[in-house]
Amino acid sequence: MFVGHFAVAYILWRLFPQVPLPVILISVSFPDLLWSFLVPAGVERVRIDPDSPLQKFIVFEKFPYSHSLVLGTFLSIILGSFLGLAMNNILVIPVFALGSASHWLLDTIVHLRDLPVLGFDGDTKVGLGLWKRGVLAFLVEIVFYVCVSAIALSGFSLLYALLLGGVFHGINANSFLGKGKKNSVKSSNSYAGLALIGFGAFTALATFLI
Ligand SMILES: [Zn+2]
Repeated sequence: MFVGHFAVAYILWRLFPQVPLPVILISVSFPDLLWSFLVPAGVERVRIDPDSPLQKFIVFEKFPYSHSLVLGTFLSIILGSFLGLAMNNILVIPVFALGSASHWLLDTIVHLRDLPVLGFDGDTKVGLGLWKRGVLAFLVEIVFYVCVSAIALSGFSLLYALLLGGVFHGINANSFLGKGKKNSVKSSNSYAGLALIGFGAFTALATFLI
């Protein structure tokens, strides 16, 4: 999931306007940002299918630090505490943890059963697997994004949010609909790099426009 995470950021910003939007955008991206560093570091593992770009064929072999509810949220509290102290804003800590946990919760809708709950070996793994139905997953994510954005934002902020979401979801379309015979992403490291660029670019543009 990509744009769907940012819709939750808008809602959190609406609820807690004392926390700057970029901090909230980073909080909902935190699991994937962390993951994009831990994959090339060899700490977490993902296997892509060279023959298909579809999300459902990506095997997330191991990502206990970035994508578990308990350990991941704990790590987000640590980073949130640094940010909260640096900004002299205690509210940053719970809002950052909420944003990060919301990422895990939304991921459980689309991921196959690969998301760890605790983050330790022998852990329970969850995932409802909406990615198995690519067209439906594509529609559900953009409808969710549009509806939640419309609740949270208004005026030009809403307009820019919808434009941003539409463009990025469109760029992502092949991973849902994947008519291509081959996967243009050649390695797990480039897949992690793309995630970093995607989340980074969206956060920068949303900060600038919204
Ligand atoms: Zn994720």
